[in-house]
Order: sequence, then structure tokens, then C-alpha cells
Amino acid sequence: MTDNAVWLDGNAIGGLLQECFGVELTGMPRRCQSCDAVRPIGAHRLYRGAGLVLRCPVCSDVALRITTVGERRILHLEGAWRIDILDSDLVSLSVFRAGEPPLR
Ligand SMILES: [Zn+2]
Repeated sequence: MTDNAVWLDGNAIGGLLQECFGVELTGMPRRCQSCDAVRPIGAHRLYRGAGLVLRCPVCSDVALRITTVGERRILHLEGAWRIDILDSDLVSLSVFRAGEPPLR
């Protein structure tokens, strides 16, 4: 990774992450699997190419890869993500099929 690489901060995919997880994530912390730094998702660096790659702002190791295949988005998360979701928000998550109760 060179210093000349063009990147955005993690806030740039805040809307996409909210679509995927049903909650705002940019302020939530992530612990890097390589350097152990804990930083909010919004402070990570976003690189765009064949897909989206979110990298640790301290060591540049991969935090998240998002690829789009047809109508599917495939997310690969690395490190420790803390995602706080209110029970009342669980019913709106698309991972639940219509008619099924949310997991508790
Ligand atoms: Zn790191």
C-alpha cells in the first residue's frame, strides 16, 4: 500500500453498512486483528476497486471486503467488530424471512 493511494474514510460506506446491518455502524468500534488498535468504523480507510475494501487506519490490514455478485453483496469481516442493535431494530433486518419471528 503506497501513501499515494486514494482512499475515503469509513463514513463513506455508512449508508451501505446501515442497509446491510440495519443500524448505524460508523461510530462503533472495531479491534484490528493485526495491530490491536481499536478505532471507530468511520475512522477506517475505504479503498475502491473491483470491490470495496475497508482497512485499519493504523496498520492498513483489511477490516472488511464487500463484493457485489449480481444482486448479492458478500461481506467478509476481519478483526473484532462490536455491533449494538436494539431489539426493536431486529424486526427490520432483512436477514429474517417474512413471517418468521426475530431471533432473541
Ligand atoms: Zn491494524
